[in-house]
Amino acid sequence: MLLRPYGILIDGKIEFGLEVLIEDSIITEIRPHTGIPEKYILSPAFVNAHSHLEYRGYLDKLHQPAYWEWIQALAASKLTEDLQEVDEWTHVAAEENYKSGIGLIGEISDRPFSGKAMKMHQLGGVVYQEVLTVPRPESAEFYLEKAEADKKKNEEGFGGRVILSPHAPYTVEESMLRYFAGVDEPYSIHLAETELEDEFFLENKGKIAEFAKEHHSRVKSTGERVFEYVDRLGVIKRDVQLVHCCALLEQDVERIAEAGATVAHCPRSNTRLQCPIAPIREMLDAGIRVGLGMDSPASGGVINYFKEMEECLHVSKLRNREVYAEEVWNMATTMGAASIGFDDWRIGVGCSPKLLKINVAGVLDSQELINRADITCLEWV
Ligand SMILES: [Zn+2]
Repeated sequence: MLLRPYGILIDGKIEFGLEVLIEDSIITEIRPHTGIPEKYILSPAFVNAHSHLEYRGYLDKLHQPAYWEWIQALAASKLTEDLQEVDEWTHVAAEENYKSGIGLIGEISDRPFSGKAMKMHQLGGVVYQEVLTVPRPESAEFYLEKAEADKKKNEEGFGGRVILSPHAPYTVEESMLRYFAGVDEPYSIHLAETELEDEFFLENKGKIAEFAKEHHSRVKSTGERVFEYVDRLGVIKRDVQLVHCCALLEQDVERIAEAGATVAHCPRSNTRLQCPIAPIREMLDAGIRVGLGMDSPASGGVINYFKEMEECLHVSKLRNREVYAEEVWNMATTMGAASIGFDDWRIGVGCSPKLLKINVAGVLDSQELINRADITCLEWV
C-alpha cells in the first residue's frame, strides 16, 4: 500500500513532502513524494493512556464538585450496579474510543468486561485489572483472588496483556503494595490525584483520615508524603504507570525520571474534580514518558480525544508552564504508547502502528492541526 499524505506526524511534529509504503501492515519505506499528495495528514492512531470503559454509564450522572465527594458517590453507586448494563456500557465506551481515533488503551478494569469490549472494537493496549482491598470487610487476599478471577475472564476476552494493578495508596494496604513492588510486571496505580493523600499519610488529617478512621481502614498514616511512602515500599519502578500525579513536588518528578516510571495525565478529569494541575512541563523536561488519558466519562466527560488534547494545552498555560502542541500530539500517540509498553508506535521503517488519516487541508503545524481537526476528520487506514 502506498500512502501519499501532504504531511506525516513523527513524534508529534508534522513533516512535509513524504510518502509511506506499507507491506503486511509494516512500514517498509518513507521517501519523498513521487506524485501529487492527497489532502490529509497521516498520524499514528491515538493512545488513551488511562481509561475506565466500565464507567461509561456515569456520563453526566455524578455532580459532586470535587474529587472526594465524587469518588464516594461513585463507590456507593457501584455497589448497586446492574452488571449486564455495565457490560453494555463498556461496549459503548469501546466503540466511542474507536471512533475517536484510539488504537491503544491503558484500561483499568474493575470487572471482567473491558477485555472483550476492546477486542470487539479493535482496540489494542493493556488491561490493568484493579485490586482494591480497603476499607472492605474481607481480607486483602480475598480481593486479590477475586481480581485474579476477573483477570482470567478479561484475558480470555481480550487475548492481550492483562496485569493486576493496585488502585491507589489509600485503598490498598501496605502489605499489598509491598507484594506489587516485588512483581515484575509493569502495573498501573493512581497516585497523588489530590492533596488529600499527603494530608492523610503525612499528618493523619483531612477527608481520607476521617474516612479511614470511620471505616477502620487497614491503611495507616506513616508521617511521610504519599510519594515518599510508596517509593519507600518500592512501588515506583521502571515502566510502572503512575496515574494523575497532580500533587507532586519537584523532587518527586526527578525520582520518577530516575526510576524510569511513566505517567498518565488526564487533564479534563483533573479539571472537573478540582485537582491541582499536574507538573507535565517538568515531567517532559525530565525525560519522563507521559501519556494522555481520557479517564472515564464519570469525570472526564464525553469520549472525544481532541477535547483532551485541547485541555492539556489549556491547563499548562494556566499553570504558566506551557506544554506545546507537538508535545501534546506526541503524548497522544508515540510517547503515550511507550508509556504503556508499546515502543514502536510511530511512523518509521519497520514499525506497524495503526494509522489515521486526518482529512484537513493546508495545515502547517501541530497547533493548527489540534485547532482545526476534530473526530469527524478521522479515517482509519
Ligand atoms: Zn482512573
